[in-house]
Amino acid sequence: MHAVRAILGLIPLTFVMAEKRIIVAIDGPAGAGKSTLARRVAEKLGFVYVNTGSMYRAVALWALRTKIALSDMHKLEQLAQAAQIELSSGDDRVFLNGEDVTEAIRTPEVSAAASQVSMVPGVRRALLSVQRSIAKNNSVVMEGRDIGSVVFPQAQIKVFLDADPAERARRRALESSQSGAIGDMSSIAGELRVRDTRDQTRAEAPLVQAPDAHLIDSTRLSLEEVEEKVLSIVRARTSNGKAAAH
Ligand code: C5P
Repeated sequence: MHAVRAILGLIPLTFVMAEKRIIVAIDGPAGAGKSTLARRVAEKLGFVYVNTGSMYRAVALWALRTKIALSDMHKLEQLAQAAQIELSSGDDRVFLNGEDVTEAIRTPEVSAAASQVSMVPGVRRALLSVQRSIAKNNSVVMEGRDIGSVVFPQAQIKVFLDADPAERARRRALESSQSGAIGDMSSIAGELRVRDTRDQTRAEAPLVQAPDAHLIDSTRLSLEEVEEKVLSIVRARTSNGKAAAH
């Protein structure tokens, strides 16, 4: 994880020296705005930003490219163990086996495949250990589906970010049109629905709100308002946002 190591220089000394790392876990369904929020909060706090969805997407991309059946649990587990995934926290770029796959992992085909490979317990085990190892030496803002419930049940700050399905589809369509893709609202809404249902109903680490997570419904809130809510939760749980809560 050279990219994660590389940004350590940006982390205020207070956090590096702190005995306990601070973990901000942000979970929620697709299109709720987790990535933008988590990136901004991490930047404000000087923490490492980790997008765990990118890891599942990278494994899915490799499986699609090597034509491994998405039902072959054994091969998918081997793939996840062998995959060298690097996340560059500052500019949110994703590398798979040394190749920059930032754009390649954002296609609808990879989104659907990521939600399929993420059902495989062996894939989750492999990525979970990478996710935990990043937080050994860094305070992190980590976003995904199971961060507060499974990866870091002891996280000091947990947020479950939600929004109405129609609003989430609208935001996704806007994002795709900004990146030059054709964003058809009804197919995007359908894709989100299928993925959310699969993520919520799978046996292993389903998408759930941890009992101690703060629920934020972002449907009618601006990004700045959501960010301020999260930062105030962080401030309340830590001493002036600077020391670990426990
Ligand atoms: O967050 P993103 O939409 O990029 O994630 C892609 C897929 O990866 C999700 O639909 C979900 O199936 C899976 N995922 C997961 N656990 C995480 C993060 C993502 O199962 N912590």
